[in-house]
Amino acid sequence: MRERVPENLSRLPELARNILWTWRPETQELFSRLDPELWEKTEHNPVRLLRETENLERAAEDPGTVALYSLAVQDLDRYLEGQGTWMGHVYPGTDVRVAYFSAEFGLHESLPIYSGGLGVLAGDHVKSASDLGLGLVGVGILYAQGYFRQRINAEGRQEEVYEPFEPGMRPISPALSPDGAPVTVRVGLPGRELLLKVWKVEVGRTAIYLLDADLPENSEEDRLLTARLYGGGQRTRISQEMILGVGGVRALRALGLRPNVYHMNEGHAAFLGLERIRELVAAGETFEGAAEKVAESNVFTTHTPVPAGHDAFAPDLFDDFAAGWPEALGTDREGLWALGRKGEDWGEAFNMTVLAFNLSRSRNAVSKLHRDVSLEMWRYLFPENRDGEDPILAVTNGVHTWSWLAPTMARLFDRHAGGRAWRREVENPAAWSFVDVIPSGELWRAHEGTKRGMAGFVNARLDLQKSRTGRDVPREVNPEALTIGFSRRFATYKRATLLLSDPARLRAIVKGEGRPVQFVFAGKAHPADEPGKAFVKALYRASEEDDLAGHLVILEDYDMNVARHLVQGVDVWLNNPRRPLEASGTSGQKASLNGAPNFSVLDGWWPEAYNGKNGWVIGEPVEYASEEEGDLVDAESLYSTLESSLVPMFYDRDEEGVPLGWVGVMKEAIRTVAPTFSTQRMVQDYIHKLYVPRANMTR
Ligand SMILES: *Cc1c(COP(=O)(O)O)cnc(C)c1O
Repeated sequence: MRERVPENLSRLPELARNILWTWRPETQELFSRLDPELWEKTEHNPVRLLRETENLERAAEDPGTVALYSLAVQDLDRYLEGQGTWMGHVYPGTDVRVAYFSAEFGLHESLPIYSGGLGVLAGDHVKSASDLGLGLVGVGILYAQGYFRQRINAEGRQEEVYEPFEPGMRPISPALSPDGAPVTVRVGLPGRELLLKVWKVEVGRTAIYLLDADLPENSEEDRLLTARLYGGGQRTRISQEMILGVGGVRALRALGLRPNVYHMNEGHAAFLGLERIRELVAAGETFEGAAEKVAESNVFTTHTPVPAGHDAFAPDLFDDFAAGWPEALGTDREGLWALGRKGEDWGEAFNMTVLAFNLSRSRNAVSKLHRDVSLEMWRYLFPENRDGEDPILAVTNGVHTWSWLAPTMARLFDRHAGGRAWRREVENPAAWSFVDVIPSGELWRAHEGTKRGMAGFVNARLDLQKSRTGRDVPREVNPEALTIGFSRRFATYKRATLLLSDPARLRAIVKGEGRPVQFVFAGKAHPADEPGKAFVKALYRASEEDDLAGHLVILEDYDMNVARHLVQGVDVWLNNPRRPLEASGTSGQKASLNGAPNFSVLDGWWPEAYNGKNGWVIGEPVEYASEEEGDLVDAESLYSTLESSLVPMFYDRDEEGVPLGWVGVMKEAIRTVAPTFSTQRMVQDYIHKLYVPRANMTR
């Protein structure tokens, strides 16, 4: 609707389309100011807002709006110019061009093509690549119905709702080839060819390309292949992985892109290796030579030790989809299978993690503990150590500071850091030393502000839930009470209901005289995960019990918007997975950054960060003899730490009402977690340890 945009606001559509605004609070303020109601109603989607608002003429005459607009445009232009980036400074003249493949990207709630931590990490990775000036493009899938929206009915059952995506209403546009034509590519599936359209998301200086099968040229059934993230059975799954890996490489070629590093974010993308071998064989290489070349420029990140997280396809299914591939690769069935076979005792299956390990020379896990666990799991794949290096490195996950830090906190930090310079080197621990000198009262008041914002958001959501289910139970969060957040996917190993193990003890804790405690839960269970859905139900039931009502709530439809409100507003972040199954975890990093210390099992990233003063631990850093024992020990530790440390410390106030000891923990959490567990540090690590070594191999 460009023609509707007034002359002096003419670049609004451009501002909306580059999702740099997702990490520019001032640009978000501009959109919100144009139409506050629509901004909320569209879930902060400026493309849709510009299409639907009636306010543009009026806005064009409002000096405040026009001034904000000018600043936003200047900021975008300056950012895109890319003067003086980290990459230009540290690696001048080094040619690194990365293609980053991921089945999901979590960029913002208005682009629902992610399910949880893996996707959010991918989104944060691309944003930091843009900030650092790294030459990187993302490759993923446009899910026409996104991931599901979660409803919790009056009985506490999770219901899944799918909504059409309407590409025209999203911050995406058709990707164009060098000669300006919309890009489509073809991928062979059993008995037919699938046509894919390619979309582009502008992410600051970088872009993500998304593949979409919803085209009239495809059969009705095939059009649905990219409808849902992690939906359907094994045939849909392998089709999506062919689309991502094979279609993704073809899309890059059609766009005129020739990266020199290919990064597989999890095994889903591993078919990209086969397509790259096929290209080289077609150009005259042998299968073995091509496989070696491809592996030398491939990077693989493994993300989980949970067995269900590693896709494997039965022989009949894989052979059906692999028809014609052995010939195209210059090998036979056995040659192809040798790349993906897991090992005799696992039964015959083609395993995507094994394929990714075999076709990469730089590999990493996502924390130090996860590296050790992964080496144990996969050691047999690396009988001799080629380069004398660890076959699997550790690059611990982080979060994109500007996507997760509350704007009021960022402004408070500016004031005490003496300007905005600290923002340029968020990965540097020394740049955060100003945190120590923020007066405790000021930090506490700022936190109280974000906490009230969170409570308002949560209570409005709870009212909506209540009006739909008709259940009138007092469910409301009190901004004065100690508030503990727990939200993430409801995978069973994350043990969302551990807190409920001893109801009487929990009751005594939350109802302490003059020291109330409340828990805010949120999370989706995968539609096929019945035990995960039982967690939703158990928490919902608990929230209705007389003793807990008002002290425990469960919010529907966890997404990046809910996540942002919670990590910025709660007092503490709770995390109690079964160790060592949480490969990294990132939500506790988001919370710590905002001054909500982590209260967690020593799993994933937490053993690297915990220093005795920046949060609390649950349980012992050991492998328990059994799951039952682990649950008992961890629950006991969870309760006793709440009783003896968190609650007394939170309510120990000075005459101004400030909990000085508590604020000390907040400061320590911010200062120690924010720099090291930022994606700015993480992407730099990828560049130093994985991308540059791979790029140098292909020179
Ligand atoms: C950060 C984030 C996650 C990851 O949570 P973990 O507790 O690290 O598993 C999942 N979902 C959303 C929406 C997030 O923002």
